[in-house]
Amino acid sequence: MDLGISGKRAFVGASSKGLGLGCARALAEAGVDVILNGRTAETVEQSAADIRADFGVDVTCVATDITTPDGQQAVLDAAQGVDILVTNAGGPPPGFWSDWSRDDFIKALDGNMLTPIALMTALLPSMIDKGWGRVVNITSGSVKAPIPQLGLSNSARAGLTGFVAGTSRQVAPHGVTINNLLPGIHATDRAVGLDGAVSKAQNISMEDAKAARQATIPARRYGTADEFGATCAFLCSQHAGFIVGQNILLDGGAINATL
Ligand code: NAP
Repeated sequence: MDLGISGKRAFVGASSKGLGLGCARALAEAGVDVILNGRTAETVEQSAADIRADFGVDVTCVATDITTPDGQQAVLDAAQGVDILVTNAGGPPPGFWSDWSRDDFIKALDGNMLTPIALMTALLPSMIDKGWGRVVNITSGSVKAPIPQLGLSNSARAGLTGFVAGTSRQVAPHGVTINNLLPGIHATDRAVGLDGAVSKAQNISMEDAKAARQATIPARRYGTADEFGATCAFLCSQHAGFIVGQNILLDGGAINATL
């Protein structure tokens, strides 16, 4: 299917690895020039080189911490006027509900709520002016069903979801859509970290921790960054202009709910 977005420009946050990279690669495959981001310059440069070689699009690198004001400014300097924005950052650490201080919550809110809101606030106006734009926020299945050990994520992402629910309806008249993609467990470094925490807490091997988690997923496997990216690219396509303010779950059926 031709996604109809060849020649457009996209910024994808936290995209040197994992789900963000999957989104950047799928957009590049559709002919979109991409701006990549990650804190580690070498990883960003390597992923950029791979994308240039594989898809022949322009790739710009912004190696910075997207959750900081300086990092956001560096991103905005490179990303002004983009047609497509995919927001993403690392997830907050696991823990127990009584462990977290105000500072822990502020950090989680900065990373997973206020950073995407700041990027949308800065980049939506030019999309509105052009009469076309696409925003996809990478959130989490924890928005639909809370994950007990990820209370910081549950809280911060719920705040972003509320912002998107209201804002998406206000920008839609201008040809701009905002939607959220909610990953369940995917085979990235984040999954290795989560399995590592279970392995340590339960004194079991990584393989056993992964097997136990896979057994809870009807698809009996982890998702891949490629299939996640393909869904993101579709939401950014010409065909997705009537999809507004939705929360789309990619979890292999793990959350047992009718809607
Ligand atoms: P990942 O594999 O750990 O990749 C994280 C990527 O983000 C790397 O490129 C990393 O590069 C970059 N990054 C992390 N923090 C950053 C920051 N502050 N500024 C800029 N770049 C940053 O993670 P993932 O699995 O792709 O997850 C992406 C998001 O989805 C996270 O918020 C995660 O919590 C959420 N999620 C993931 C899953 C899953 O199963 N994978 C499930 C639910 C939700 P550097 O380290 O070099 O910065």
